[in-house]
Amino acid sequence: MPRRRRLRKVVAPPGFKGYKPYGHKENNRMVELNYEEYEAIKLADYDILNHEEASKLMGISRATFARIYESARRKIAKALVESSEIKTVFGNAHLDNDWFLCTSCHARFNQPESNTNACPICKTNNIEPIINND
Ligand SMILES: [Zn+2]
Repeated sequence: MPRRRRLRKVVAPPGFKGYKPYGHKENNRMVELNYEEYEAIKLADYDILNHEEASKLMGISRATFARIYESARRKIAKALVESSEIKTVFGNAHLDNDWFLCTSCHARFNQPESNTNACPICKTNNIEPIINND
């Protein structure tokens, strides 16, 4: 029987698909950072929330938050030390809303302009849904 995967709430997806180091020899090394790991780093180290607050926002236990956060930090450290590319992958996250990415201005938003399917920032139609199989 397949194990059920618990979904973690991610308030907003990362605004990039990955990071690439420069100034080193090309090496094809890559670290996959899940959306929920990105969110854990954002909440704890950017928004400076404590683990209790952060775990509530993500709809998970404090212990689970601590595990995701630890994993995120290790992956980022590994990428820095080994000059690896960081790729963001959906993981076990679910987003608060349906999010879209504008491929022209890179804005992220959750409601296209009504009926027009246009980016609310630059008004182009170059938008794509941010979906769970990246
Ligand atoms: Zn735009």
